[in-house]
Amino acid sequence: MSELLSALTERFFRYVAVSSQSDIAEPGVPSSPGQLELARLLAAELETLGLQDIHIDEHGILTARRPGTMPTAPAIGFVAHLDTVDVGLSPDIRPQVLHFDGQPLCLNREQSLWLSPEDHPELNAYRDQDIICSDGTSVLGADNKAAVAIVMELLAQLRSNPAQVGDIFVAFVPDEEIGLRGAKLLDLDRFPVDFAYTIDGAELGELVYETFNAGRATITIQGVPAHPISAKGVLVNPVLVALDLVGHLDIHDTPEHTEGREGYFYVTDLQAGPAQATLHINIRDFDRQQYQARKEQLEAHLRGVQDDHPRARVQWQIEDVYGNILDAVGDDRRALDLLEQAFAAQQITPQTKPMRGGTDGSALSARGIFTPNYFTGGHNFHSSFEFLPLNAFLKSYQVTETLVRLAAAPGQLN
Ligand SMILES: [Zn+2]
Repeated sequence: MSELLSALTERFFRYVAVSSQSDIAEPGVPSSPGQLELARLLAAELETLGLQDIHIDEHGILTARRPGTMPTAPAIGFVAHLDTVDVGLSPDIRPQVLHFDGQPLCLNREQSLWLSPEDHPELNAYRDQDIICSDGTSVLGADNKAAVAIVMELLAQLRSNPAQVGDIFVAFVPDEEIGLRGAKLLDLDRFPVDFAYTIDGAELGELVYETFNAGRATITIQGVPAHPISAKGVLVNPVLVALDLVGHLDIHDTPEHTEGREGYFYVTDLQAGPAQATLHINIRDFDRQQYQARKEQLEAHLRGVQDDHPRARVQWQIEDVYGNILDAVGDDRRALDLLEQAFAAQQITPQTKPMRGGTDGSALSARGIFTPNYFTGGHNFHSSFEFLPLNAFLKSYQVTETLVRLAAAPGQLN
């Protein structure tokens, strides 16, 4: 293993050793103490790497600045998330490096957990390579600690081999997996960048700069409870009003019936009793105008439900959750140009795809900072079969280093 790759791997192991699942039931940010613990560990390391303005705010958001020597170069930000996802697996991660020779990989002998190319044919691209896996009882946490390791190792390399680069800002944010909460709270005064990147994509080559526009409607329906003995003309049942509301949505305009760049409405939950019903509807569209039109369409529908049930009380709130990264690009495409040049320099063909979801970059882009996303090299995020091939991990590092250098090379960009 090359020195660089062992340094990256060592870092990755050190960061996944801090259990930092986010907790959706916890309304505060950070939602779990492990994320703060990881932020503190990283802050101490940043100190030894000579970064400045190192700061952990009341939400556990860690920001820092590496002053550059090229004032003409753009200030580049890197954003990575501190949390790992809670999908009901163990919060504690025990990573291991396994060599894939074409045979199933034994993740856990005691519990007989295997990662086999039969069930996971994506493995076959990594024959005769080393792969980092979990012990089968947890996610691996390459999402997103591979990125944390890459950014930290880049700063370490720049410390020992100073290069002519511009200002680099880092932001390690909590609670990405539970609604991009950290990125939404990031203090932009501590992150004054020209553009930023997340390294939160999956397999080698993945490049994402289009995500959904996302909104969430919270709807409450107040009924009129009454004893059935004398309910006629009195009772207004919120259960039935809610079913009427949901039943008149287009059943083909849903996540399970759409793909590519199509948007949808998604009724995520419904709680109803004799006095009140509450439901949530996610609104998604890539196109900004269509997204706005969807919000208006939903409001018109809700007014119609109110009209049909005049004695019920239908109330709603629609909140924007994140925006399409592409809407933040404007005339300044430097972030994308750089990324494409860095891919080319590393002989990687970009696999560009619209993402039917959001990243921390979607939250930042909605706040005006264009933040595309590229691969970590990992596979099967949010699963106990998550794995990270070492070569792909190294490629992600090399893209990161290359784009920082290219950004400072005069004449490379216009
Ligand atoms: Zn992630």
